Amino acid sequence: MASSFGSRPHTALGASAAHRWMRCPGSIRFAAGIEAPASAYAEKGVAAHLLAEICLNGGVDALPLVGRELNDQIVDAEMADGVQLYMDAVRAEMRAGDLLLVEQHVSLDGLHPPAEMFGTADAVIYKPGLRQLVVFDLKYGAGVVVEAVGNPQARYYGLGACMALADRPVSEVEIVIVQPRAPHPAGPIRRETISAFELVEWSADLLEAAERTLAPNAALVPGAWCRFCSAAGICPALREQALATAQVEFAATPLPSPPTPASLPAEEIGRLAVVDGGSPAVFPVNYAMDGDAVVFRTAEGTKLQSGPRGRVVFEIDHFDRETRSGWSVVVGGRLEEVTPYDAETLERVSGLPLAPWARGDKPHWMRIVPDRISGRRIT
Ligand code: SF4
Repeated sequence: MASSFGSRPHTALGASAAHRWMRCPGSIRFAAGIEAPASAYAEKGVAAHLLAEICLNGGVDALPLVGRELNDQIVDAEMADGVQLYMDAVRAEMRAGDLLLVEQHVSLDGLHPPAEMFGTADAVIYKPGLRQLVVFDLKYGAGVVVEAVGNPQARYYGLGACMALADRPVSEVEIVIVQPRAPHPAGPIRRETISAFELVEWSADLLEAAERTLAPNAALVPGAWCRFCSAAGICPALREQALATAQVEFAATPLPSPPTPASLPAEEIGRLAVVDGGSPAVFPVNYAMDGDAVVFRTAEGTKLQSGPRGRVVFEIDHFDRETRSGWSVVVGGRLEEVTPYDAETLERVSGLPLAPWARGDKPHWMRIVPDRISGRRIT
């Protein structure tokens, strides 16, 4: 089914990545042209938004649409419940005379940005009596909890909505994040209210950050926002940060020292050792970290057959021949396959920047849950 959500136009300085490019200006240039691996969970998110759009525009509830196919996904009860929660929140805000905009294209052209800046807000309500805009953002994912306070994506939409409704006075903007599937102490619906004046003040920060992304030497600044960055797998700044963390850990204790799993350096390739038919076998794999666990993808074969529930070791290293220095880290633990029965973990690992280097389909997500880790350093 066609949808304005599925075909949303894209801009590099878009709202959904503002949390990243506002902090890491170099990410725009560095990640240009790198597509993040498609994730079934992202496709579900698109389907959930499509369902919400259909229901809000059609004035119907989500539950009767269970079983329908949207964006190649089947609407299930969980999706219908989540979308219904969002729609109920939107509908509860509506009063006579209010204006509801669904899938509203918003542009920041009026602010004269240094490059194209636009996006699509899930739902916006204008309340003429209160001179208030209510900006709704549906977050269907469960892997990353999204806060309402200071949320740059929703503020970006709020700015754009103010401009789209330029002939209507706005004194206040309320941001509403609806995230049905991620536990949060404040519940699935979070809000922040700011004055139009504060929003305009914030727009100066946004535009300055946008300007910084265009500098030829725009800095790569790693941090929590690296998660889901399409360039994370090849980013030198992220790798250096992880390595520096590991080196601090290594230097702080005499060797051989037990580094913590969190200090495991972000080298891309490690060696997995399993026992196959009574004999050791070693495989190079590219990997990512999921908290303390090492994650990699694999096809059918030895890693899958001899792996799950079995004990394995995983080694990564880095050596410099010139300075005759280097380090190695060995993780020992239990190997498990992440299956749809653990949907939360599967969603989380599916979002990791982990595109297999080797050709061929690698549909199985494997996780090494460490119970020991050791390191050696040569200086
Ligand atoms: S991985 Fe992090 S530091 Fe590197 S480009 Fe992406 S956001 Fe910036």
